[in-house]
Amino acid sequence: MKFTAFWQRVTRNRKNRKTARNSRSTDRGVIDSAPNIIHRNEHVLSRKEMSEHALKVLYRLKKARYESYLVGGGVRDLLLGLHPKDFDVATNATPEQVRKLFGNCRLIGRRFRLAHVHFGREIIEVATFRASHDQAGGEGVTKDGMIVRDNVYGTLEDDAWRRDFTVNALYYNIYDFSIVDYTDGLKDIESKTIRIIGDAKERLQEDPVRMLRAIRFAAKLNFKIEASLSTSIKANINLLDGVPVARLFEEVLKLFLHGHAVASYELLKEYDLLKHLFLQTAEHLDEYGDRFVTQALINTDLRIQQKKPIAPAFLYAALLWPAVKHYADELKQEDLSLLQIYQIAGQTVLEKQLLQILIPKRFGIPMREIWTMQARLASRKGKRPLKLLPHPRFRASYDFLLLREQSGETQLKELCQWWTDIQEVSEEEQLAMCKKLSSMSKNKGKRKKRSKKLVE
Ligand code: ATP
Ligand code: MG
Repeated sequence: MKFTAFWQRVTRNRKNRKTARNSRSTDRGVIDSAPNIIHRNEHVLSRKEMSEHALKVLYRLKKARYESYLVGGGVRDLLLGLHPKDFDVATNATPEQVRKLFGNCRLIGRRFRLAHVHFGREIIEVATFRASHDQAGGEGVTKDGMIVRDNVYGTLEDDAWRRDFTVNALYYNIYDFSIVDYTDGLKDIESKTIRIIGDAKERLQEDPVRMLRAIRFAAKLNFKIEASLSTSIKANINLLDGVPVARLFEEVLKLFLHGHAVASYELLKEYDLLKHLFLQTAEHLDEYGDRFVTQALINTDLRIQQKKPIAPAFLYAALLWPAVKHYADELKQEDLSLLQIYQIAGQTVLEKQLLQILIPKRFGIPMREIWTMQARLASRKGKRPLKLLPHPRFRASYDFLLLREQSGETQLKELCQWWTDIQEVSEEEQLAMCKKLSSMSKNKGKRKKRSKKLVE
């Protein structure tokens, strides 16, 4: 309702405006792109919906007479009636000047220098206007056109054309509360389109991560990827292999940990991108693997909807499980215990994965624990289960076991039920459950021996 009203007003306002779409990308030297300005009474973007901390930053910059805009997801999502994940600010103040204004400010990033203003848990990201690298004689760009340092400062207009997608290049001006739109982002919000700014191939070469960002926004917003961008992603997929492995770790979390994991996964498969992130998973995505990953992601989206926490280690452990399981199944031919099998399979898969995505040790260790706990949960000898219950990785490993059963490992049904039950009873009853299991397995052992004798 609110959105419709907004569009009626914006459309009215835009009738006589010239369109700026790509006017700069066809000839980057010519600056003829007057922005569309949508005045405060012509849109419904309200400060009430913005983070008070973002507003504090915007006002402080204004007070110091710097240009000061809310930009990116904050504007885009509010226009769409969504809750922004975070708020980004753009200004003509340099990172050092921003730091001088805020006590609670840290400068981060080498490739892309930014000021982070901290307010408890909330961080407001303040970026200085960037200009095109052409204006700096190509400094910070590799011979393949990839940007390795992005710290050439420019004007608001330069900054708008340097952003990735038109829907991300809308600026809310704190001086007069208008929206500034150089790239016709509003039109694309209206038509639900992810359109890259400028020449798709060139922009993907500059930063191949933009492919993953396109997928992420299409999944999150349920937007379509504009045709030339779509074609260009498919043609340039291999560029992703040149992205530093450390950067991909965070990007993958953003794809899967914000409530649109299933949609992201479907798009990754559609664009054949999965193998550039998880080669081993892509190789073993047989019937079971695909079901397992999909189920893991369905559960992830659900937990996020219910505001329950998700551990990155659990997510990565699930994304790599098809490969671990495949390798473990192969190792079952060898004379190894189940625990050894999962240890070897887990370690091997993780080592290979690190060549594609740098998973920090603090996640790699719990991932391997979740995998090896699958063997421990299966063994249940004597009083061992009682030692597993308080294990810091028990809950995640138990959830993982349920997920396996849910995705088709039906032989785990009894095991899952047993672990569910034991968590719900008193300590005495837990002990009794273990004893009962031991005596049952002893009897089974005896029966086996007896039948063996009979056969002999
Ligand atoms: P969200 O925060 O919901 O993930 P966002 O659009 O705010 O989405 P951020 O990663 O927070 O994304 O980045 C903020 C803004 O910075 C983007 O909207 C975009 O304008 C710009 N930006 C981020 N990454 C890139 C990139 N790789 N290339 C060009 N512009 C980028
Ligand atoms: Mg953001």
